[in-house]
Amino acid sequence: MLSGRDFTLKKYEDLCEAVSNSRYRNVTIAEYLEDTNAADSIILIRHDVDENIRFALDMAEVESDYGIRATYYFRTGKNVYVPDIIDTIASYHHEIGYHYETLDTAKGDMDLAIHLFSEELAMFREKYDVKTVCMHGNPLSRYDNRAIWERCRPDDFGLLGEPYLSLDYDRFAYFSDSGRTWDINRNKVKDTIERSRSSEGVRSSDDLINLINQGSLRDICILTHPERWPGTGLDYCYRYCVDLVYNLGKWVLVRTRRHNHGTGGSA
Ligand SMILES: [Zn+2]
Repeated sequence: MLSGRDFTLKKYEDLCEAVSNSRYRNVTIAEYLEDTNAADSIILIRHDVDENIRFALDMAEVESDYGIRATYYFRTGKNVYVPDIIDTIASYHHEIGYHYETLDTAKGDMDLAIHLFSEELAMFREKYDVKTVCMHGNPLSRYDNRAIWERCRPDDFGLLGEPYLSLDYDRFAYFSDSGRTWDINRNKVKDTIERSRSSEGVRSSDDLINLINQGSLRDICILTHPERWPGTGLDYCYRYCVDLVYNLGKWVLVRTRRHNHGTGGSA
C-alpha cells in the first residue's frame, strides 16, 4: 500500500540515492562548521528526533547504505533518548546532537532554562561528543527556545554552533518536511526560518530529488523528522492522522494569532 506514496522510508531511500549520486559533498553540520570556507557545494542532512527513536534508526541504516552521514538531534524524552539505539546510530558515523527545549520546560524562566540546558547537554556528553545543538520548536508553546541565546552563546558551552544561528541561509537552500510538506509557503509556524526563494516550487520529495539531480543550487540543507517517514503501512496510517490533526491545530493557531495581531499581521 505504500508504493508511490510520499513520506515513506522507501521514498527517503530514493532521496538518499539522489544525494549519493549528486555533485554535492555530504558532511555533518559539525564538519561543515569546522570548515565553512570549503569551495565545493555542500549538502547537509539534519534530523530532529522528536517522538520515537526507532524511526531514526531505520533512516540511519538507509543513509549508511548510501554512504550518507547526517546530523541527528535528540530530545530527552524516554522514547527518544535511548543510548543503546543512539550508539548504533553513532556507529554509522552520523553526528549526535542535542535537541533542546529548556525554555519550554522552564516555562519561560531564563535562568532555569540555561541551567537545564547545561545539565542536559552534560548528560549527552557523558556518552557522545556533542558539537552542535538545535532547538525544538513546539508550535503550541508560547516560548521560543532559541531565546536562551540572547543571554549566552554556543561557544560558552564549547559548541561549534546551532543550525538556526550558525548557517547562512543566503548560501543554503533550506528544505523542511515540517507540516508534511516541503512547500515553504505552507509550513510557517516555528521550527522554520525565513527561506530564500531558491526553495520555492518544491512540494513533493520527487520535486526535491529532481532539484538535487539538476545540481543547480549552490548548497542545500535538508531537515526531516524521521517518524514522518515510516516503513510500514500501519505506521504510515498513524503518522498521516497525527499530521492531519497537527496541521489543523497549526491552522487554528495561525488564524488566532493573525486575528489577535489584526489583519495586517504576518503570523
Ligand atoms: Zn523538534
